[in-house]
Amino acid sequence: MDELLIGIGSALLLAAGFFVLRPLLLSMAQNDARRQAARPIPAQWSSLLDTAAPAMRHLSDEQRTLLLRASGELIGTRHWEGCQGLVLTEEMQLIIAAHACLLTLAIPGEPFPGLREILVYPATFVPRTVRDPRKWVWTNERDRPLPELGESWGNGIIVISWDAVSEGARDPSDGHNVVLHEFAHELAYEYDLTPAGVDRAWKPRVENPDHWSSTLQRAYERLDAKVAAHAATVMSEYGATDIAEFFAVATEVFFERPEELDHEDPELYDLLCTFYRQDPAKHLMKLDSASGLTGRKR
Ligand SMILES: [Zn+2]
Repeated sequence: MDELLIGIGSALLLAAGFFVLRPLLLSMAQNDARRQAARPIPAQWSSLLDTAAPAMRHLSDEQRTLLLRASGELIGTRHWEGCQGLVLTEEMQLIIAAHACLLTLAIPGEPFPGLREILVYPATFVPRTVRDPRKWVWTNERDRPLPELGESWGNGIIVISWDAVSEGARDPSDGHNVVLHEFAHELAYEYDLTPAGVDRAWKPRVENPDHWSSTLQRAYERLDAKVAAHAATVMSEYGATDIAEFFAVATEVFFERPEELDHEDPELYDLLCTFYRQDPAKHLMKLDSASGLTGRKR
């Protein structure tokens, strides 16, 4: 009996040690990788980006350098893993990292400080466990398991399917991009941008939290009403699932179809401009002006 207790005690100590030491080991690995990330950007990355991620073509040289540096840091300082036999190449990592860092390009500080691991599946996957606290609250578990394009659990792990990533990257103006979607969820966790549960007081970590929460809520209700009335909208109806999905879907559209979003819901568009510190519709206008076309009035 004593031996059994000693055995259980040792196992518990080992498990506790693992969980205590793991963040420390990870942060040591991240510091080491950060030093490596200071290396120059590989020469082929810029052309890789042009070919595989046409969304980045509108960036200025300075923005492109910033984006590649941030991507290099995200690749070098986090744990990346190909799952179900997927061999993760540098090109795949770059495409994922560049789209992720497009979100944080103008946000000061380290991109995605809470993110530790990016798991990439070859194709749409069926999750074995549900670890997203939001999903415990808001989804109907009887519907599971359903195939997923990606998941962001808010515990430092993003799971994503490569086929959805490459499809999303190929067409930068269809309003669908799984990387923008999942990494927007990660930002939502980090800044408390969307309420995490019905009982919890919701206090977004933004400059003007009351403005953020009331504006986002109003915009969500507008989409919800449009979807219920089968009215046309630039956003997919999946955005009406709940306010967390609304923010992720709105982010996809903000970066991929900014002028349409600005036209359909200028209040939401301005809110996202303030948070992301970017005005994607203006980038397009700049390109239009350069080619002699007239830009938008507002
Ligand atoms: Zn989502």
